[in-house]
Amino acid sequence: LPVVVIAGRPNVGKSTLFNRLVGRRQAIVSDQPGVTRDRKEGEALLRGRLVRLIDTAGLEEAAPDTLFGRMRASSEHAVAAADLVLFCIDARAGVTPADKHFAAWLRRQNKPVLLVANKAEGAAATAEALEAYALGLGTPLALSAEHGEGVAHLMSEIADRLPDTAPAPRHDAEEDERPAGPLRIAIIGRPNAGKSTLLNRLLGEERMITGPEPGLTRDAVAVTFDDGHGPIQVVDTAGMRKRARVEESLERMSVSASIEALKMAEVVVLALDATLGVHEQDLQIARLIEREGRACVLALNKWDAVEDRAATRRAISDRIETSLAQMRGIEVVTFSALTGAGVDKLLPAIRRVYGIWNSRVTTGELNRWFEEALERHPPPLVEGKRLKLRYMTQVKARPPTFLLFGTRAEQVPESYKRYLVNGLRETFHLPGIPIRLQLRGTR
Ligand code: GDP
Repeated sequence: LPVVVIAGRPNVGKSTLFNRLVGRRQAIVSDQPGVTRDRKEGEALLRGRLVRLIDTAGLEEAAPDTLFGRMRASSEHAVAAADLVLFCIDARAGVTPADKHFAAWLRRQNKPVLLVANKAEGAAATAEALEAYALGLGTPLALSAEHGEGVAHLMSEIADRLPDTAPAPRHDAEEDERPAGPLRIAIIGRPNAGKSTLLNRLLGEERMITGPEPGLTRDAVAVTFDDGHGPIQVVDTAGMRKRARVEESLERMSVSASIEALKMAEVVVLALDATLGVHEQDLQIARLIEREGRACVLALNKWDAVEDRAATRRAISDRIETSLAQMRGIEVVTFSALTGAGVDKLLPAIRRVYGIWNSRVTTGELNRWFEEALERHPPPLVEGKRLKLRYMTQVKARPPTFLLFGTRAEQVPESYKRYLVNGLRETFHLPGIPIRLQLRGTR
């Protein structure tokens, strides 16, 4: 199991944090003689990852000299074996000389460190916590182990930093982890956009592995093929479209078929008949893709029949991007499913957006950008008071989802959220995919 060590001077709340993280799992308190006596260990399940947690509290009496000497002596063994160190300070007390010495020593150990500013229940303490930036150990995570505030966030931050080992048994919060198996795509679009022709073309050119196999719904079928870069599964809802054709209006049916296909896919190929331009229904489908948080490639089919190609391409992508801010920078592929010309560009484009959709930005990079963004364009006044935004962290990928902390952060107006999302998109190269920004007020 990956080893996570909680270190810091006495009374910063290490044991409280230990108990929080271990939760109901039994703590194993070992009673070995010598330096390791009273060493407290437990297993904690953090966002689906099982870790061995070691609390260095109780070791502090072991060494006689200065406070820093005691901290160091008590942590040395544990830190040497650690995959990650949680260095705790007391946010209310601020950064003490012993904290500084210990931080300097810790930096030299070349271990991944998460700086935890505990006892940060309340805005003033959060401000103190931010002073801890000066320790050179990255962004301090303000939390209250006692009250449980910010602990879930800490758990994700820990999970993000663990070495890659087998994940623990399945757990809800694992949702954003990349599942095993083929990359799942769906080709959706209005009737006659050329979806079936495209699918046949793709399957005609690639080696088919399995298929057709039943999909997840009554009328969907799935086909898995390999283009030499790994397996891809296409969910085809052709059957569903046919049934709907009889029973429902065209408008309703292609949207409901799209919803089904969307739910099964990671990347959605939005197929358009380029000779017809963008129809309101195409936008409706694009909105669904955005709402479901899927990655998307805009596939402009029937390119053989398009006369002014440059103008058509521009008109279509402009229309999509102005209607849907989240589609800014969307990947556009033009081809003819009928002749096959250009179809070879589709799979590489799908893999590109899939990669972007799975992106992760480190908390350090994120906050360096965030500080600049705040400076360039400070948060607006709300009810006469300026919002104090503290820091940001990426809580999940697929699609990239960021959590913004600050005093009354939940009051951030839409326009400012858009400013931040656009900044994230540009700075971290996340074009054409939905980006989620969640707000979390600290008190
Ligand atoms: P679906 O309803 O989206 O599955 O569309 P189909 O694949 O059934 O295609 C609808 C019609 O468009 C058929 O008559 C196809 O031959 C035609 N079609 C499909 N792709 C192309 C293309 O790239 N160029 C042209 N000119 N016609 C196409």
